[in-house]
Amino acid sequence: MLPTPIRAVYFDAVGTLIFPNPPASAVYAQVAGRHGRTIDPAAISPLLWQQFRIEDDLDRQFGWVTSEERERRRWRNIVSAVLPGSSDELFDELFQHFARPSAWVVPDDAARTLTELAAAGYWMGMASNYDRRLESVVQGSAALVSVRGWLVISSVVGVRKPGAGFFAAVVASAGCEPREILFVGDDVENDYEGATAAGLHAVLLDPKDKHPEVARRVRSLGELLL
Ligand SMILES: [Mg+2]
Repeated sequence: MLPTPIRAVYFDAVGTLIFPNPPASAVYAQVAGRHGRTIDPAAISPLLWQQFRIEDDLDRQFGWVTSEERERRRWRNIVSAVLPGSSDELFDELFQHFARPSAWVVPDDAARTLTELAAAGYWMGMASNYDRRLESVVQGSAALVSVRGWLVISSVVGVRKPGAGFFAAVVASAGCEPREILFVGDDVENDYEGATAAGLHAVLLDPKDKHPEVARRVRSLGELLL
């Protein structure tokens, strides 16, 4: 199905296999409302992504080193950027929301691709810059059963994507050669370039055709099976 010598397929989590549903902006607005704060849902995403990039730049300066503490701090800073002066209670409620399997959806195309790759004998994992909340999300999702045993989480590894240390952990998890692993994700730098630099095969999930410059990309995960 996949070109030889691929034996293992590792997927990014958010934006590749799992998507927040309802969208993060709706959740932020709803939780803010419960805490007596009003915010225009349309204002949330730009603020969230702006702070996300600031946090990313900080991590880049520190060689992509991370920890559970750092990840929690990242999200605290993001929530503070979206909702200045927000209470710890508001933050905790938001943080916990995204630890629940019910907060996420696995699109049918992703679920079907995992099932077919598993049936074809590939072993699979999930490799994410999300924190240990990913563990409870994956445990509670029937569609993700085939990746459950092989989670590589940056806060556990101690290095975020696209750091080389992260991909070394992916290779160790897979127990095969880098060139025998296909890495699939939706982020050019973190997933595609990070994996390629580490000697893995990589495919970019590019559903909106935003990156024609990338050599190997698919618009849907189902295209991996063609
Ligand atoms: Mg992603």
